[in-house]
Amino acid sequence: MAGLVPAIHVFDTWRDFRGCPGHLVRRRASLLPGHDDELGDAMPLPSSVDAAIIGAGAAGLGAADALKDSGLSVIVLEAHDRIGGRAWTIQASPEVIFDVGCGWLHSADRNSFVAIAHELDFEINKSLPPWGQRAYGNAFPQEERDDFSRALEQFYERAWQAAQKGEDGPAARCLEPGNRWNPMIDAISTYVNGCELDQVSLLDTEAYEDTNINWRVRRGYGALVAAYGASCPVALNCNVTLVDHSGKRIRLETSRGTLTADKVIVTVPTNLIAGEAIRFTPALPSKIDAAAGLPLGVDDKVMLALEDADAFPTEANLRGATMRTAMGTYHIRPFGQPCIEGFFGGRFARELEDAGKGAIAAQSIDEIAGFLGNDIRRKLKPLAESRWATDPFARGSYSHALPGHAGDRAALAAPVEGRLFFAGEATSPNFFSTAHGARDSGERAAMEVLATLGRS
Ligand SMILES: Cc1cc2nc3c(=O)[nH]c(=O)nc-3n(C[C@H](O)[C@H](O)[C@H](O)COP(=O)(O)OP(=O)(O)OC[C@H]3O[C@@H](n4cnc5c(N)ncnc54)[C@H](O)[C@@H]3O)c2cc1C
Repeated sequence: MAGLVPAIHVFDTWRDFRGCPGHLVRRRASLLPGHDDELGDAMPLPSSVDAAIIGAGAAGLGAADALKDSGLSVIVLEAHDRIGGRAWTIQASPEVIFDVGCGWLHSADRNSFVAIAHELDFEINKSLPPWGQRAYGNAFPQEERDDFSRALEQFYERAWQAAQKGEDGPAARCLEPGNRWNPMIDAISTYVNGCELDQVSLLDTEAYEDTNINWRVRRGYGALVAAYGASCPVALNCNVTLVDHSGKRIRLETSRGTLTADKVIVTVPTNLIAGEAIRFTPALPSKIDAAAGLPLGVDDKVMLALEDADAFPTEANLRGATMRTAMGTYHIRPFGQPCIEGFFGGRFARELEDAGKGAIAAQSIDEIAGFLGNDIRRKLKPLAESRWATDPFARGSYSHALPGHAGDRAALAAPVEGRLFFAGEATSPNFFSTAHGARDSGERAAMEVLATLGRS
């Protein structure tokens, strides 16, 4: 795997104006927490353990942490050369920290990573997200913005009312026919769900518990997750391809050899289960079906260095009233850093990934120039862009339930024969698609393991 970082493309262009070779950026990225070369292949693969956990994302690390004082022998098997999965912080330039995956402590008043951040001495930033604020520049005049906000609120109200009836269906059903803001409401869905509203289960989306409190971690959410998992026993570069539960002990085939376990916790993203990148013997069609009902949509981020940054506001929002679903949304100078972070979702994000490396950055610079004028082009230089659909061990960004599949989260989470357990963000009943939902699900699966041993 070239560079071992398929979920991201790091640009060389920034060296032109920073005078620093691009490979140093890669090196810095690889040396951040969660990418610790010392872990590497150093953890030998045991031939037998009490419990094996597949995947070292927030869920797998949550499970390992919950089992650490259990007396069980535990190993976490991780296909990548770093821990954290879809939680990943890089130093995109000397001045810019970039959360390539999760960035916001959603529902922060109920988010288990908040207490962990305090314990690990990670500073939390509580400033309000810029999403609902006045947009910078003239591309989205405030009266238009207010009108859009009203239309969005009315859509959410209709969706809530419809969900109360208990009948599932596509959330797109709750769009008001002919409303001029419908494409932009759909764009919001691509950011929140990773897909357009025609793909989203109404009942599932209403099951998500959003407390509207969103905080951030100054050193990066990915760095926090990596620090949380730093003491967990992880075998890196260890791709599990087969879970054979036909015998007395479960046999795992991996890229680093075979091992056996009494209990196995599976935390890999749903698209890998549905696509049988990881296989089960005997087959588990109910798990494949449930995972297929909870696909990962696509969301990607781009980080652009911003010259002359002091001329721009910090923590500001930038977007236009473009009346399209295929559009980005931008965060100007997060944490005051000299940069603009762009966010794309849904079919458009997938198309941009398909268009090849650099397409997301090029699109974002064109779009920003459309809002602020062509002079801005010379001030923007791409630093890095994510490519989550291309990452073979993610195959997307976060899960949504397809219409009619709200029940699949519980079906995926259910243990099999008291020895195969399932965690990961997609199994969370109320905090799916988030890092804390993933962590809590890992803890839940660990408790299920202990319960089968009479230790709950
Ligand atoms: C662009 C983007 C923005 C996001 N923003 C936010 C946000 O602001 N707030 C928030 O809370 N969440 C956000 N999320 C979602 C959040 O990052 C995820 O929900 C969470 O990190 C998922 O954790 P997980 O443990 O379930 O899965 P993962 O993190 O995907 O972990 C699974 C692990 O399994 C490994 N793996 C896969 N297959 C195998 C195999 N066969 N063998 C061994 N290992 C394997 C993978 O490499 C990975 O490390 C965002 C995600 C993305 C992509």
